[in-house]
Amino acid sequence: MNPIILVHGGAWDIPDDLVESHLKGVTEAITRGKKALPHSALDAVEDAITCLEDDPTFDAGTGSFLNRDGMVELDAVITEGNSLRAGAVGAVKRIKNPIRAARIVMEHCDTVFLTGEGAERFAAHQGVPLCDNRDLVIEREIKRWEGLARQNKPAEDFFKHGTVGAVAVDKEGTLVAGTSTGGTPCKQPGRIGDSPILGAGTYATDTCAVSCTGWGEAIMKAGMAKTIADFVDRGLKAQEAVKKSVEILRDRFSGYGGAIVVTREGDYGSAYNTPRMARAVYAESMKKPEASI
Ligand code: ASP
Repeated sequence: MNPIILVHGGAWDIPDDLVESHLKGVTEAITRGKKALPHSALDAVEDAITCLEDDPTFDAGTGSFLNRDGMVELDAVITEGNSLRAGAVGAVKRIKNPIRAARIVMEHCDTVFLTGEGAERFAAHQGVPLCDNRDLVIEREIKRWEGLARQNKPAEDFFKHGTVGAVAVDKEGTLVAGTSTGGTPCKQPGRIGDSPILGAGTYATDTCAVSCTGWGEAIMKAGMAKTIADFVDRGLKAQEAVKKSVEILRDRFSGYGGAIVVTREGDYGSAYNTPRMARAVYAESMKKPEASI
């Protein structure tokens, strides 16, 4: 097995002045994730996503978009394809690193998906320190929120997405996918997007692992991550599978976004139908991670 990890930092119209911070962010995340990679795809994905959640460049963890109430509200999931284990949290407001909480749900809870206060209570009970929502809010997002609230437009008009995700295969062939997001700007409180929903924004089996990003309502309806996995199972190369599903997202669901995928054989791909998607890849056969946008 050739261990590989891919990360993304969202597919959207990333302006020129933010290109550098996005490339830096995905490179740092993959550098963090690759340390654990040979032995544990699970640790690699969790570590890479934690790094992206802590980087305010991205719409995940600290610095996420604010909902209509002016609060950060986070969704995350992690899933291990080979064992078919998964854990997710949705609409949490007091967890700094929801991907860690998602893993705790996967490993210590007898249900897959916890939301809101129940998720926070469970995480706290398992030793996750709860933070104040204000600790996750940054000045840039207060300004954006004030602007959006004034215009009173639906979030999908803005196509400003920066969800993060990672997929990896380790030397045992274990496949893991994870995604973490603050959702869409000025979203309805309580709204949960595609990201933490298995088969929609994230999916892993014993043949491949997928993480998507983009306009969640369309991605959910398309069942995009599962579509990509089905294409891989039908024999498509990773790149073809992801490219085809992004075309379906646009043509049948009028949706915008992108995805990354890795297979058990170490084949990988990424595609998007937005102007840019920040992403990076590292395989043991490479000298260093490669980031692109
Ligand atoms: N898919 C995410 C959501 O709709 C947003 C994103 O990918 O940027 O919640």
